[in-house]
Amino acid sequence: MDFLQALKNEIDHNGPITIHHFMQQCVLHYYSSQQVFGRDGDFVTSPEISQMFGEMIGAWCADIWAQMGSPKEFRLVECGPGQGTLMADILRATKSVPGFHEAMIVVLVENSKALRQRQLQTLEGVHITWYSDWPQIEGDSPMIMITNEFLDALPIHQLQYQEGRWRERVVGLSAVGELTYGLAEPHPVAIQSIPEGLPAPQEGDILEVSPSRKAFVDFVDQQLSLSGGAALYIDYGHLQSAYGDTLQAMKSHEYVHVLPTAGEADLTSHVDFAALQKQSEFLAHYTTTQGAFLKALGIGVRAEALKQNATPEQAKDIDSALKRLCDNEEMGQLFKVLSVASINLKPAGF
Ligand code: SAH
Repeated sequence: MDFLQALKNEIDHNGPITIHHFMQQCVLHYYSSQQVFGRDGDFVTSPEISQMFGEMIGAWCADIWAQMGSPKEFRLVECGPGQGTLMADILRATKSVPGFHEAMIVVLVENSKALRQRQLQTLEGVHITWYSDWPQIEGDSPMIMITNEFLDALPIHQLQYQEGRWRERVVGLSAVGELTYGLAEPHPVAIQSIPEGLPAPQEGDILEVSPSRKAFVDFVDQQLSLSGGAALYIDYGHLQSAYGDTLQAMKSHEYVHVLPTAGEADLTSHVDFAALQKQSEFLAHYTTTQGAFLKALGIGVRAEALKQNATPEQAKDIDSALKRLCDNEEMGQLFKVLSVASINLKPAGF
């Protein structure tokens, strides 16, 4: 039985499901079953656009490790590494940093078996510890945590304001047995996750909350508070909480309808970075846009250096990759960067 039919049967037996449950099932199925990345796949991510992206993150890692006092052992963790391209670029960029490779324990968190296989190929020869889910992360050495387009894949609840109260958006079945949206009693966890400081909701407003993203970032905060280090989260989203429906599905580089493409398209939502930052005496938060971050780290200089040895065609590719990663009309503005770091550190790029 295919995924969509199984989902419909589940709803038929047990009633409508939350967007949270829907998204979780779809994402799990999608990443374990499809050719998702690149030109022949459904979408392209920053590390797949250009090696310069990973090289900048590599330089960021080397700098923060030096600020940490170049610990003899540290965990270099990436959650949701996709094809392993970002980690490969980070490792290449840090190869000449004395002591970095000797000290690092590379940890990847990936729940798709197919993608783990792919990462194994990309990172051939690297000693890697894999976990399928983040709560399994072990150890007490200092940590550098990296994620790119991981938070956006973690599930959200959608609440909708109706007649003076919040209701939960759910997925049910129509009279003819197709998936359809509905409203139900809100999940208590969703209500508890409503961020402070929002304007009063208007009739019909949709609010997205993600206890899953919060739980993940809280876990990393705790690790950083105990063991020291820094995290870098890169994703598309907003730096201030706001109302709106941002759940989106992408297939073959086009936006498609969410429900009929369940499990077959890349399902994500914008990350509310404001909701992920918690006051702490041990940690400091830094936010900026991807464009400003990469430029501050010197991506322009790196592009010029690469162009020195490039053919005219390659030079054109480098320029267009630079634009795509940094320009405000492309990924530069929509993508945001959040760093959470031990209080004594000052992450580069902010
Ligand atoms: N960081 C990569 C890939 C982003 S796609 C890049 O920039 O190219 C999202 C990645 O997160 C995929 O590898 C997917 O399998 C993984 N993923 C999604 N949800 C996950 C979860 N709950 N636990 C572990 N990995 C997850």
